[in-house]
Amino acid sequence: MFDYIIVGAGFAGSVIAERIASQLDKKVLVIEKKSHIGGHCFDYKDENGILIHKYGPHLFHTNNKKVFDYLSNFTEWQIYNHKVLGYIDGKKVSLPFNFNTIEQLFPKVLSEKLIAKLLEYFQINTKVPILELKKIQNSDLRFLSDYIYEKVFLNYTAKQWGKKPEEIDPEVTSRVPIFIGRDDRYFNDTYQAVPLFGYTKLFESMLNHKNIKLLLNTDYKEVINIDFQNKKMYLFNNEFNGKLIFTGPIDELFEYTYGVLQYRSLKIVTKTINTAFFQEAATVNYPNNYDFTRITEFKHIHPINSVNTTIMYEYPDEYVQGKTPYYSMFTTEAKMQYEKYFELSQTIKNLFLVGRLAEYRYYDMDDVVKRALEVFDEEVK
Ligand SMILES: Cc1cc2nc3c(=O)[nH]c(=O)nc-3n(C[C@H](O)[C@H](O)[C@H](O)COP(=O)(O)OP(=O)(O)OC[C@H]3O[C@@H](n4cnc5c(N)ncnc54)[C@H](O)[C@@H]3O)c2cc1C
Repeated sequence: MFDYIIVGAGFAGSVIAERIASQLDKKVLVIEKKSHIGGHCFDYKDENGILIHKYGPHLFHTNNKKVFDYLSNFTEWQIYNHKVLGYIDGKKVSLPFNFNTIEQLFPKVLSEKLIAKLLEYFQINTKVPILELKKIQNSDLRFLSDYIYEKVFLNYTAKQWGKKPEEIDPEVTSRVPIFIGRDDRYFNDTYQAVPLFGYTKLFESMLNHKNIKLLLNTDYKEVINIDFQNKKMYLFNNEFNGKLIFTGPIDELFEYTYGVLQYRSLKIVTKTINTAFFQEAATVNYPNNYDFTRITEFKHIHPINSVNTTIMYEYPDEYVQGKTPYYSMFTTEAKMQYEKYFELSQTIKNLFLVGRLAEYRYYDMDDVVKRALEVFDEEVK
């Protein structure tokens, strides 16, 4: 009855389901373990009418016009430029670290000198990863890079990953940039916005198609059986000869044959406070103080008149099986472990792995939408 089965109703699964249903006019079964669609991007309105991103703040930003245009079929947008402050040496200062931050933290003469030196080495309006800045052999820039490294980066990274920065792949560390200029926006991409009515509505619009059947609250193992020996797949005990697009955790799919992959988890604490606004920006990072990494106030992202406000604390947490896997670990050991799983997956015909859990990597939302569109065009169709 179904030509395709998709495990997971996050961006990876929903984009491919939508494409199959609308472009190929084929029947798709989407199986989702959670009680809701949207995966990690799920949002809901709380008792104050404030739109909350359940699994942490999600800000859409991309330079990819194709991805933006594609998603625009399913939502209107509210332009939104994310602003982040960092609590450093008792002050809330602009992040990413930029010329304004330098002036907020250092005396005038020193700030001018540091800005001039940065402009000697780097182009205005560019982003420089902290580890690049550290390589420059100049005493002023060495002072600056040591300061940023220690006060912004080191403790935050240690808290976030429970590891030393050197132990983490540059794919992650390069995400912490210094901005050579005064642009205080956290991202510099061409398109920066949030869905006007939230991510969940966007997903509803994508999955609302006569060819898509959605099974919520269902672990795929309840309905699909994969016989790895004979390379056969079964749906409700009948042999399934269609295509399986899997967006869940790859180690779970292969019954932990090569062990449990390492992740970082999060404890998320949401609080309503009886004040119009709690903080000056949507997100304030706390690199050096407290056990949480950041506080997000959702009213800044989705403005609403309300006497109360809702804030979210994120506490990084050890991952053990059963907890929510938030971020894959970028250690060499973890990558090698993943490679073994990947090789195993290649032996199964008509199995496609897409998304952050199945491919065990950090994808931003635009990356995963791009990847899902490519997999549909080049492999699944
Ligand atoms: C805290 C945090 C903040 C982020 N902020 C941003 C941001 O600001 N901007 C940005 O672009 N990106 C952000 N991201 C990244 C974004 O969340 C991902 O790009 C996106 O969620 C990936 O989609 P996905 O479909 O690959 O995975 P998911 O959204 O995780 O979807 C996978 C789905 O598979 C389901 N599943 C798993 N196992 C099974 C099973 N056994 N049976 C059935 N279903 C199963 C899961 O329940 C889930 O719904 C953030 C990520 C985190 C963790």
